[in-house]
Amino acid sequence: MAAGRAAELVGDCASDPPLGATARWLAIARSDEVVYGLGAIALERRARRLKLAVRHEDAHAALAQAIARLSAKVELVRLPDAWPPMLGAPAVEVRELVAASDRARGRATRTWVTVAGAVERPRVLEVAPDLTATELVAQAGGAAIDDWVAVAGGAPSGRLVERDAIVRESLLLILPAAHEVVRRLRTPLADWLLRAASACEGCRVCTDACPPSLAGRETGAALEPHALLCTLASGHDDGIELARSLACTGCGLCDAMCPSALSPRALVVDVRDRLRAGGASAKATATGGVVASGLDTALLTRRLGLERYDRPLAR
Ligand code: SF4
Ligand code: SF4
Repeated sequence: MAAGRAAELVGDCASDPPLGATARWLAIARSDEVVYGLGAIALERRARRLKLAVRHEDAHAALAQAIARLSAKVELVRLPDAWPPMLGAPAVEVRELVAASDRARGRATRTWVTVAGAVERPRVLEVAPDLTATELVAQAGGAAIDDWVAVAGGAPSGRLVERDAIVRESLLLILPAAHEVVRRLRTPLADWLLRAASACEGCRVCTDACPPSLAGRETGAALEPHALLCTLASGHDDGIELARSLACTGCGLCDAMCPSALSPRALVVDVRDRLRAGGASAKATATGGVVASGLDTALLTRRLGLERYDRPLAR
């Protein structure tokens, strides 16, 4: 990584998945703390070039005012409203920025989570950091259905959690048990592998959509989910493709784009996690700050079958 880039710190106010609004809400309602927290972390890390990435005009305006109020030297970077936003390392989640501000001011630890989907009052909650899915649903007015299932992190990058599980993610998505997102998350890995072996067309759509693939092309060592699926399905492990899975962020864009309704994400994430468990780690990819974005959020929301839950949030 170039020396200039090592001194850069990016605050991430842009990473709300579809139906998520935590980052946007904090950028608006806690704008001073976001800017202050970025400065506090920059001091710890000795970063000199500070950036805040945002997606929405209202968040951009609120942060611009906070930067002016605090006379802070922070560059605002406006990204398209798309998932996932692609941020250069190191990027710090907006909740961490506010937490850093709280720490610096001796305030109690808290967290923020959007509860959305099949709940009576979808909203962004400010809560203690150890609430379960059931407790969060209750604070959102209760579930609108009986057979609800909790997806921590939302779609397309989340995971199923039990109702009594503590939720750490910034979005808790509540869906009917029969929803397609839930059905896919419940599909066993062995099924995804069998389906990949029989139905993958090798079209590369997943690779063309994959953000780390785009970022790593210059190095010639990019993560290529289509190639990794081919390796897994054929059983011919040359050791190279599998190691490239370490760059996977689990964003799920490959799943959303696959014309054969396969799940490259499930297979790539599984390989990645097994390699990590064995002590492997990804090489940092020098992307030079905020570089690109993924699929239009409204389009992705429709593709995921979530448009009926795309409602204004309660205050
Ligand atoms: S997009 Fe789907 S069908 Fe195309 S190469 Fe990727 S996994 Fe295979
Ligand atoms: S889940 Fe992983 S493989 Fe799929 S698009 Fe995201 S980073 Fe790429």
